[in-house]
Amino acid sequence: MFIGHFGVGFAAKAIAPKTSLGSLFLAAQFIDLLWPTFLLLGIESVRIDPHATAVTPLDFVHYPFSHSLLTVLGWALLVGGGYYAIRRYARGAVVLGALVVSHWLLDAIVHPPDLPLYPGSELFVGFGLWSSLAGTLVVELAIFAVGVGLYLTSTRALKGRDFVLGSLVAILLLIYIANLFGSPPPDAMAIARVGQAQWLLVLWGYWADGRRVPGSGAVLQPGWSGHG
Ligand SMILES: [Zn+2]
Repeated sequence: MFIGHFGVGFAAKAIAPKTSLGSLFLAAQFIDLLWPTFLLLGIESVRIDPHATAVTPLDFVHYPFSHSLLTVLGWALLVGGGYYAIRRYARGAVVLGALVVSHWLLDAIVHPPDLPLYPGSELFVGFGLWSSLAGTLVVELAIFAVGVGLYLTSTRALKGRDFVLGSLVAILLLIYIANLFGSPPPDAMAIARVGQAQWLLVLWGYWADGRRVPGSGAVLQPGWSGHG
């Protein structure tokens, strides 16, 4: 899953309006931001198999530090706790921690059973939606669309047309299409190197969010007869 994680990051703005979209992306995608570095360090591994699933040619052989349920709970505490230490915004900290965990739960929907419960676990989780390209597209694009919609209704641009946000949404969609329909990567190290570029999407999130302010607020105020 790629774009679905970003969709959940967008959506979380409605719950934590004072937290930047960049931080929300960082948390929602945190374990996939760690993963390329763990591949480069040689402590996790991936294999390319064009027949692995209908959606991705990646066979996630070993990734217990980034993607086991137990370590993900630890990463969630680290991200949420670190944010609270810096920002003192409890709601944002809780939302960021929940976003880190949401990544594992969403991965569990699409991955074949390859997500360990803890490092060394013999039990692997995964409901295998990646066996269906259409099913994956429907679920992931729906999450993304709802997320972007919630972000748009809970913020407004400081001035004029918001090309930074528009281009961010467009680039996410383009990367998703390229991943789905492009040729498989040449080798695992190429995946690890290209994967580092995801940090740019986090920075783009901070950039886009800095040009917007918490908007109508309708979603957040009980009693307000707005949408949401
Ligand atoms: Zn992942």
